[in-house]
Amino acid sequence: MDKECIFCNIVNGKTDTSFLYKDDTLVVFKDINPHAPVHDLIVPFKHIRSINDVTAEEEKIVSHMLMTGRKLAKQEQVNESGYKLLFNVEWGGGQRIFHLHMHLLGGWEKK
Ligand code: AMP
Ligand code: ZN
Repeated sequence: MDKECIFCNIVNGKTDTSFLYKDDTLVVFKDINPHAPVHDLIVPFKHIRSINDVTAEEEKIVSHMLMTGRKLAKQEQVNESGYKLLFNVEWGGGQRIFHLHMHLLGGWEKK
């Protein structure tokens, strides 16, 4: 755990952020500055800087993040209307918090 890292503090329960979902690998919580009607963050406990730093041993963390994103989309009832699962990678890719996380965005009007 990196004491300076806001997401390390959140996943380790050092803040009052409430979790929509939690298991042995990751937690899910609402983005504080939502860019869509539903905007959740899927964040592993392990402090990994970005997708660029994921090792072969950590691949299962990323696949579990994706499957949890799908599960949360259903829980948030956006699975049928549609959603995005998004990783911003490094500064130029829009990443501002350097602890691996995936965005779940959805809840726009149906066609
Ligand atoms: P990124 O730009 O991919 O690094 O995304 C970081 C996201 O974390 C942004 O969408 C922020 O709004 C969100 N964020 C920052 N601080 C918090 C916080 N304390 N609780 C929830 N979300 C946060
Ligand atoms: Zn961290």
